[in-house]
Amino acid sequence: MTGLPVRPELVGEVPYGAPQLDVPYLLNVNENPYPPSDAVAAEIATAVAAAVKTMNRYPERDAVALRADLAAYLGHGLTADQVWAANGSNEVMLHVLMAFGGPGRSVLSFAPTYSMYPEYARDTHTAWVTFPRRDDFTIDPVAAVDAIHDRQPDVIFVASPNNPTGTAVPSETLRAIATAATGVVVVDEAYHEFARTGTPSALGLLPEFPRLAITRTMSKAFAFAGGRVGYLAASREFVDALRVVRLPYHLSAITQTVARVALAHADELLAAVDRLRANRDDLAAWLADSGLQVADSDANFVLFGRFADRQAVWQALLDEGVLIRVVGPEGWLRVSAGTDEEMAAFKAALDQVLKTEEGRLQ
Ligand SMILES: *Cc1c(COP(=O)(O)O)cnc(C)c1O
Repeated sequence: MTGLPVRPELVGEVPYGAPQLDVPYLLNVNENPYPPSDAVAAEIATAVAAAVKTMNRYPERDAVALRADLAAYLGHGLTADQVWAANGSNEVMLHVLMAFGGPGRSVLSFAPTYSMYPEYARDTHTAWVTFPRRDDFTIDPVAAVDAIHDRQPDVIFVASPNNPTGTAVPSETLRAIATAATGVVVVDEAYHEFARTGTPSALGLLPEFPRLAITRTMSKAFAFAGGRVGYLAASREFVDALRVVRLPYHLSAITQTVARVALAHADELLAAVDRLRANRDDLAAWLADSGLQVADSDANFVLFGRFADRQAVWQALLDEGVLIRVVGPEGWLRVSAGTDEEMAAFKAALDQVLKTEEGRLQ
């Protein structure tokens, strides 16, 4: 970037993203490993062929039909005007900061957390403020409320279950945060479908808190990461603010079409969630039995460690064709829950590494 008059805060920055490598076992970005069935794929192809016939026209600007389908999918009495959709929940959260953040404003979150949040903050000139989680990655509700009173953030992001730790936030903590907040609160439920039985969604809190929003995505449990669809539920006024900042025609006709067909087959696309949850629990137990520290997970991944040289462990696994993620506090690594075959390959590879110098713990 040298020589170009780029914004000073972008100088030296590199694009976000985990390595996209062509190896047999992809366990680094928390995808659902099961592709759509031939029947669903064929139905999507037919719908795309029909949509292409009107490709000379711009798509429906407010994606009302898709938002109505998403509202019906979420339930809780939500209607299309209380739901927003964009190209992944990443774009939804960028819209939130475009509408509610900005120069002189701040966004607070609880670290360690999703590494994209500070990027949306940077890109929208919103100050990024973090408050630390406890050692077990839970949020201390009393300390969180104090921090909110103290900092008065305009926006609060709470990932539940959190990435990269897998930690779900109890409703009582969310209620305390939403009560203390003077700005808007976004609960990022990208991994909600993987939560252990009995973990409530923050959707139930919406009627109590008009400045609360919940984001979801079709990228993880829904097995539709390539479709790029994320969405948000909130009050109608909240959604209207996001409509102001979106680009015109931000959701292509193809995206809207394929997402609607996928939603019509929600049961099938979500069918593997129970199996992935079971594999997640088995993976966590196996890692603990192997003598590692393991963060309690309600998501489709597990954070484990702590290694003296996590980069060396990551590389040794990659050498065996297993790609995981270097993320989280120093010493920790994150692995996605996958198919039985993927889990067996990961365990075999890690078992070997743990016997070597590379695998030594802190
Ligand atoms: C994966 C993920 C998302 C969703 O990303 P998309 O843009 O919808 O693919 C959102 N939040 C967290 C914490 C995530 O890990």
